[in-house]
Amino acid sequence: MPAKKIVILRLGHRPQRDKRITTHVGLTARAFGAEGMLLASEDSKLAENINDVSERWGGDFYVKNDVNWKSEIRKWKDEGGKVCHLSMYGVNLPDAVAQISQCEKLMIVVGAEKVPFEIYELADWNVAVGNQPHSEVAAVAVTLDRIATTDPLRNEFQGGELTIVPEKCGKKVIDNRSGSNDGNNG
Ligand code: SAM
Repeated sequence: MPAKKIVILRLGHRPQRDKRITTHVGLTARAFGAEGMLLASEDSKLAENINDVSERWGGDFYVKNDVNWKSEIRKWKDEGGKVCHLSMYGVNLPDAVAQISQCEKLMIVVGAEKVPFEIYELADWNVAVGNQPHSEVAAVAVTLDRIATTDPLRNEFQGGELTIVPEKCGKKVIDNRSGSNDGNNG
């Protein structure tokens, strides 16, 4: 796994409306090398679901539910961390990537509904993944990929119950608890 310490701060999550997309933000962050996600809303069920995925598929990714975003940002900065807020209005990522890549402790902030303006002021970088509207899932994936020093697609996740064996055709999964193969072409 990468040496950088990266956490995602998810703002404005509305449990009914954003359940699926926030889950995808978390799973994408995990797959592309973040160590955890701070959720600035109360949705313990969502946190539990992502934590279950980590247990099944390995690694130490965590979700911290119902955080206070302001105090998390202050604490992060007090500990020497930097904050990158993803917004289509920001500086385009290719123009900021060299600087951000050097940061060893990075919080990446993504919104759902309108983001409070204070976030723009607290952030070290307000960064656009292209200056067009799209999705927080895409923004997180592209950012984590562009700032990585090793290829995130080569990340390995230890200690999970299940491991996929890549196949040209079909699906092969090893159950690490029993050592059995579940070969399935369905
Ligand atoms: N309507 C909201 C607003 O005006 O702030 C934004 C909604 S957008 C679907 C949700 C989040 O996706 C944004 O807060 C931002 O983090 C991310 N996002 C969407 N497009 C982006 C882009 N081009 N670059 C960076 N982040 C983007």
